[in-house]
Amino acid sequence: MRDSVPAIRLNGETFGVYLTADQIQRRVSELGAEISAAYEGRRPILVGVLNGAFMFLADLMRAIDVPCEVDFIKLSSYGDSKITSGVVRELKSVDANLRDKDVIIVEDIVDTGLSMQYLVDTIAQYEPASVATATLLQKEDATVADVYLDYVGFAISNLFVVGYGLDYSQLGRNLEHIYILQES
Ligand code: 5GP
Repeated sequence: MRDSVPAIRLNGETFGVYLTADQIQRRVSELGAEISAAYEGRRPILVGVLNGAFMFLADLMRAIDVPCEVDFIKLSSYGDSKITSGVVRELKSVDANLRDKDVIIVEDIVDTGLSMQYLVDTIAQYEPASVATATLLQKEDATVADVYLDYVGFAISNLFVVGYGLDYSQLGRNLEHIYILQES
């Protein structure tokens, strides 16, 4: 499957396939089963981080079989570049009342961990019953913030990825596979 997926061009750069849709879906199903077992008898609320996590969140939610709610928060940190600025801003806050709720923060990717740390701190202020963290991807080498990740889809190398919700200057979010920037 992997070998049959051609490289793509986005904004003048070449990206090769890194995780196929099949691999992603299999792992998302496993995460859904893990979350369902951990939250049996409870009613978690998944808080998806826009824009990148929308596709992972949609699939993850379908793989969870306990009753659950959804809401979204939007952060900005990267602008249009491939390098983190390290500055996290909140562009849209959650609408739901999170007090006494079991919150699961759903991210697309954790790089430095600064966004996730900001999210955990921000959501803790609403006095939820519990806060857990889920991310589809974690860049293992890059994590600088000390934030605990409860559910991790894939640990990946420290290269820039696009697809399955993740963008490069707003393009590539619609791709079903995840691609990695090829060195020129
Ligand atoms: P952190 O705060 O952990 O450094 O960065 C988290 C955010 O940076 C993610 O939610 C995502 O928006 C963006 N990001 C980090 N690495 C990548 C990457 O390789 N590709 C894309 N498209 N976005 C990334």
